[in-house]
Amino acid sequence: MDSRRGFFSSLVSLVQVKEKEAPFFPLLPGFIPNSAQGCAECTTSACKSVCEEGIVVREGTASPFLDFSKRGCTFCGECSVACESDCFVAEPVNAINAEVRIGILSCLAWNKTICRSCADVCNDKAIEFTGLWNPEIDPLKCTACGFCIGVCPAYTITVHPLKAAK
Ligand code: SF4
Ligand code: SF4
Ligand code: SF4
Repeated sequence: MDSRRGFFSSLVSLVQVKEKEAPFFPLLPGFIPNSAQGCAECTTSACKSVCEEGIVVREGTASPFLDFSKRGCTFCGECSVACESDCFVAEPVNAINAEVRIGILSCLAWNKTICRSCADVCNDKAIEFTGLWNPEIDPLKCTACGFCIGVCPAYTITVHPLKAAK
């Protein structure tokens, strides 16, 4: 990936985030966005209780969402299997509808301090460095699993809505 192009696109993203974007919490993998009625009738929150990563959040009768602040999604599918309200697509899902970005102004490795924490946890090898520096996420490889977010010592990896669905 062209580092200069990555730099400027990340910078533009950063400015856009500061100007426009509210906090975003992605949906569970395979969750059907318009299944709020199924969730409204659910009293067990089974999707939340079966998630071994502890990343499923559900407030009251609202639909669940994901919190990547500590862990990420393994795409184990247990939340989908546990749901008794048909809120998930039937087939296995291996990506989350979200875009994960590195904020280069705060990233240590973009600022001449060695750090590879994000790349070390990325099972998809989606984070590419230029030598020791300037990590960039390859959107074609990234599944938006979220594991890199909680390990970043600079808290500079963030998740955003996809412009077009994956
Ligand atoms: S697929 Fe597995 S890890 Fe991901 S949210 Fe569902 S239960 Fe949790
Ligand atoms: S873990 Fe965070 S600070 Fe370290 S290289 Fe990755 S994005 Fe940069
Ligand atoms: S770069 Fe993408 S695939 Fe890799 S850990 Fe981060 S969110 Fe997951």
